[in-house]
Amino acid sequence: MTTSGGIVIVGGGLAATRTAEQLRRAAYEGAITLVSDEDHLPYDRPPLSKDVLRGETDDVLLKPAEFYDEQAITLRLGAAATSLDTKAQTVTLANGDVIAYDELVIATGLTPKRIPSFPDLEGVCVLRTFDESLALRERAGTARHAVVIGAGFIGCEVAASLRTLGVDVVLVEPQPTPLASVLGERIGELVARLHRAEGVDVRCGVGVTELRGTDHVEQVVLADGSVLDADIVVIGVGSRPSTDWLEGSGVTVDNGVVCDVSGRTTAPNVWAIGDVASWRDAQGHQVRVEHWSNVAEQARVIVPAMLGAEASSAVVVPYFWSDQYDVKIQCLGEPEADDVVHVVTDDGRKFLAYYERDGAVVGVVGGGMPGKVMKARAKIAAAAPIADVL
Ligand SMILES: Cc1cc2nc3c(=O)[nH]c(=O)nc-3n(C[C@H](O)[C@H](O)[C@H](O)COP(=O)(O)OP(=O)(O)OC[C@H]3O[C@@H](n4cnc5c(N)ncnc54)[C@H](O)[C@@H]3O)c2cc1C
Repeated sequence: MTTSGGIVIVGGGLAATRTAEQLRRAAYEGAITLVSDEDHLPYDRPPLSKDVLRGETDDVLLKPAEFYDEQAITLRLGAAATSLDTKAQTVTLANGDVIAYDELVIATGLTPKRIPSFPDLEGVCVLRTFDESLALRERAGTARHAVVIGAGFIGCEVAASLRTLGVDVVLVEPQPTPLASVLGERIGELVARLHRAEGVDVRCGVGVTELRGTDHVEQVVLADGSVLDADIVVIGVGSRPSTDWLEGSGVTVDNGVVCDVSGRTTAPNVWAIGDVASWRDAQGHQVRVEHWSNVAEQARVIVPAMLGAEASSAVVVPYFWSDQYDVKIQCLGEPEADDVVHVVTDDGRKFLAYYERDGAVVGVVGGGMPGKVMKARAKIAAAAPIADVL
């Protein structure tokens, strides 16, 4: 069956929903079709490793069902896009349906990496979807020991939530500290301290060599020879852009869908947004961002570009957050691991640090210091001298 026309958005997450919403706000009156391989209405992912995992809410929908009716957005749920023909301007779905488009938006997000050499044992999981969060929560109800492999943001949040549920948690990270590659080791140490204070056994500078068990995982073996008991193993070693379905389409993929400054891909009438998209920045670098706030910023750019209108040229200071226990870690600007880090507050749990590059303030990271973090926005936007914030 071929259905036709208008703007087709492939993906059922934040980027897809924001794009559809912005299109209607911009008074676009043509057809909008949103194609998602998930059976759920589009939902928000940040709560999955936090409130949902801790059993505090199941309410994660980005918009109620009526929104899609009211806005005349056609939903194709449980429908994976399997290929794209950029000449015919059609997307083929797993059930054989073919959808024609005038403009196509790729918003397919990420697929968590697994560790191929590990056996496929019960109790070993990743966390990207609502169903995965519910399954992990259920396991946590009876588990005693969890091993979280990878101390990036998701690994740290999962460790915090499982610990809050009373599970014994070991957090294993081959880098010298949690979050070392994103925020550097100085702040990584403060994050490790936070977890240790809550009773998480943080093991850094060591990898995992083996998972043991028959049907269900029972033990995790580390490179230093330690053997850890585990009823649950969460693999949090990063994700890759979900682009397999674009193979052979002519859309250039290089660590994500390669886009210009407005989200236009290398194929005509094809755009990409969100975690899957690598946009060119003002300095000409391709940058792919895996954070929530970035999606709304991109939607504000891509929609006017698609409709041939002017986009706002406001300076955007990148922002993301991560909730671990009662501490909200916030990051404003573009700190990098090898920047000079000035820790200006550290009370043993909460902290505030400015990041300096070439004498200018390029970012601020706070743990439990929301007001202070947000106050630095103008200075970071202006790349003010570091002395201005110290
Ligand atoms: C557990 C977790 C916690 C997070 N916490 C934070 C946080 O605290 N702070 C923060 O800033 N960011 C956080 N993030 C990141 C944030 O959620 C993402 O940046 C955001 O979800 C990106 O939205 P997206 O629409 O690009 O991708 P996604 O939300 O991944 O949506 C992509 C959608 O496309 C669907 N799809 C994929 N392939 C196909 C296909 N072939 N056909 C049809 N549909 C397809 C997927 O199933 C999915 O529904 C978190 C992410 C996760 C997973």
